[in-house]
Amino acid sequence: MKRILVTGGAGFIGSHLCERLLNEGNEVLCLDNFFTGSKRNILHLMDNHRFELVRHDITEPILLEVDQIYHFACPASPIHYQYNPVKTIKTNVMGTINMLGLAKRVKARIMLASTSEVYGDPKVHPQREDYWGNVNPIGIRSCYDEGKRVAETLMMDYHRQNKVDIKIIRIFNTYGPRMAPNDGRVVSNFIIQALKGQDITVFGDGSQTRSFCYIDDLVTGTLKMMNVEDFTGPVNLGNPHEFTILELAEKVIELTGSKSRIVFKPLPQDDPTQRKPDISLAREKLRWEPTIQLTEGLKKTIDYFERLLSGQPIV
Ligand code: NAD
Ligand code: UDP
Repeated sequence: MKRILVTGGAGFIGSHLCERLLNEGNEVLCLDNFFTGSKRNILHLMDNHRFELVRHDITEPILLEVDQIYHFACPASPIHYQYNPVKTIKTNVMGTINMLGLAKRVKARIMLASTSEVYGDPKVHPQREDYWGNVNPIGIRSCYDEGKRVAETLMMDYHRQNKVDIKIIRIFNTYGPRMAPNDGRVVSNFIIQALKGQDITVFGDGSQTRSFCYIDDLVTGTLKMMNVEDFTGPVNLGNPHEFTILELAEKVIELTGSKSRIVFKPLPQDDPTQRKPDISLAREKLRWEPTIQLTEGLKKTIDYFERLLSGQPIV
């Protein structure tokens, strides 16, 4: 049994991680400022005596005693990370420095949840970890993608300079139950629009691509990475099956049986045109690859949002 800190533990990915870590018998300390996270995501964990919740903003230092740190706190959807871009950068830079300082003091292994956004609008396809990316440093997505790039740099520098035991994962678009219904990400938007019979809003002509990983696969890869020895990463974690956004819209309509129409809206600035992980490194080092494909994962996610929208229990 380990004492494990999960920053951003009340968020979409963080709450699934807390649950899996508890199921494996660990003590879990969930730290969150509830900017985009929700108590609803962790309500079912509250009466577990090995679970503890701390309301805290990681841009402020904190003194704790833990064995491992999963550093996941950061708004992840464009609407939320662009709402207060300066705060997003502070979360990535000051927040990561604070967590690295904690890891250094207590000699805890620390993992950073980085992102495929570090590749920007990639000129290399699919993206391998040794690709340095094509990122606009002054655009509206920069607070997030440059923020995560600095966070990766900080991780590597604390590792080289202070021998902090680090892990970096680059997460590609992940979806599943407990995505925030209002955060504007494509999978939750399309499902909610389809279930409500509203128009499905495809941005641009829908030819841009993404590769969608179901949450359970992502958590499995994350745990494997944390517990493998002699490998800091960065490592890509994602599902290499690539879809256009138009294909996703059509699939959601098919699976929900919705009468919604597809409408086209302007493409947001700096929206990446294609994204697909090369997961050879994860296959080799972690013996990991996703097992849940889009149709199966979407069905589970649709079921979650149906229950949420009709006021039924969701956990
Ligand atoms: P989320 O918004 O659901 O979760 C983020 C959590 O961090 C929330 O609970 C939020 O309240 C908390 N938080 C934000 N700022 C904080 C601060 N300053 N102090 C304390 N808590 C703070 O997002 P998510 O999808 O669960 O993403 C989790 C992590 O994974 C993020 O670091 C994100 O960048 C990364 N990631 C996610 C995806 C994805 O597809 N979901 C892809 C790539 C990377
Ligand atoms: N998108 C869309 N309609 C929506 C929300 C998003 O067409 O209602 C598009 C968006 O422009 C992008 C893709 O879907 O091309 C994925 O968007 P998301 O915000 O989910 O993730 P990210 O752009 O960070 O990969």
